[in-house]
Amino acid sequence: MDRPPIPNGAVLVSGDSIVEAARYQDLKAFLSSGVQQVEHGAAALAPALVNAHTHLELSFLQGRIPLPQRSFADWLENLFSLRVSASRQEQLDGSRRGRWQVLKSGAGLYADTSNEPGLDVSDEFPARHIFREILGFDQYDLQAAVASDIRAPQAAVGRTISLAAHACYSTSASLIQQAKAWCREHRLPFSIHVAEHGDEIEFLQTGSGYCRELLQRLGRWTPGWRAPHTSPVQYLDSLGVLDRETLLVHAVHMRQTDWETVAGRGCAVCFCPRSNHNLNVGRADIEKSLRYGIPACLGTDSLASNSDLDLFAEAVHLLNHHPKVSPDAVFFMMTHGGARALKQAQRFGSLARGRHSTFLSINLPGATGLSRLSEKLIHQGHRGEWKWVNCLRNN
Ligand SMILES: [Zn+2]
Repeated sequence: MDRPPIPNGAVLVSGDSIVEAARYQDLKAFLSSGVQQVEHGAAALAPALVNAHTHLELSFLQGRIPLPQRSFADWLENLFSLRVSASRQEQLDGSRRGRWQVLKSGAGLYADTSNEPGLDVSDEFPARHIFREILGFDQYDLQAAVASDIRAPQAAVGRTISLAAHACYSTSASLIQQAKAWCREHRLPFSIHVAEHGDEIEFLQTGSGYCRELLQRLGRWTPGWRAPHTSPVQYLDSLGVLDRETLLVHAVHMRQTDWETVAGRGCAVCFCPRSNHNLNVGRADIEKSLRYGIPACLGTDSLASNSDLDLFAEAVHLLNHHPKVSPDAVFFMMTHGGARALKQAQRFGSLARGRHSTFLSINLPGATGLSRLSEKLIHQGHRGEWKWVNCLRNN
């Protein structure tokens, strides 16, 4: 993903790292007799995928909210009513199943936005970046809002952890700024859902609508709060939280000036096209974001708003609904783009020295020209025509 494809390539690995990726004939001269060689046949070796946005703690809701929904509000009401009646065991089992789905769909790294520390698992692969999510429109103290594991993070192989704010309509400006300041101090990525649905736009413009009614109903409304009369992106920019370490999720309702701001600040954007489709919130202008050179990546979002956690299926949907986006750009988004957005490009997203030694072998029967390679990889991946290489959990 960081250079052109290598015909008849080979990847030399040692332990959990890649030593070199090059043409087989160039590597062969350096191989000692003890090196085990594996022939992958008519296949492409490709980096493990990166699912840049999911919420595994909602996996227990798979199939329980009929999709598509009529609106974001309808979906959220369903989510609330099912979530209050869920047992902890149900959520824990769902999280485990979700993680297994992530692995079975070819992702070696995923970003999990989560409120509940107790649902994390301890195995090393697939690796995960946990965004511990901050919520509270009427809260102003970060220390009170964050979970215990972020106050005293435990080092764990295959896991990094930082903070996300849920959204502009659910989290106070002060909490958003403090969460971002915490991430800056620790040099870790910060994330927030932004411009996902029309209710969010209305709320920031006028201070009314579904978001306000919801906050009042939940007892979270702040009397005296004044709408900023601007877009979510401009609002976040006014809070000073947009930079190269901020990952914006969804970006469906964007104005021209919003794209310009996002490009100028260097933020990454994670698109979740099937979730947007299922909640009937609109269609993100991925074409425009790519024209602006915005670092883009791809996520499935949760099993409450999607039918599976399969990034290949997400990519096929994207290609079908955005015919002007090139398959090369999509394959980049689902590998290197995600790794870069999560600040893990030194370990994931490409096959190069130092990267993780677990990657994909995608079957490519027949001759495939380079011009159609990415498209073929995505469709073959979607058909299940791939396998893990060097994955202990799968073999
Ligand atoms: Zn989300």
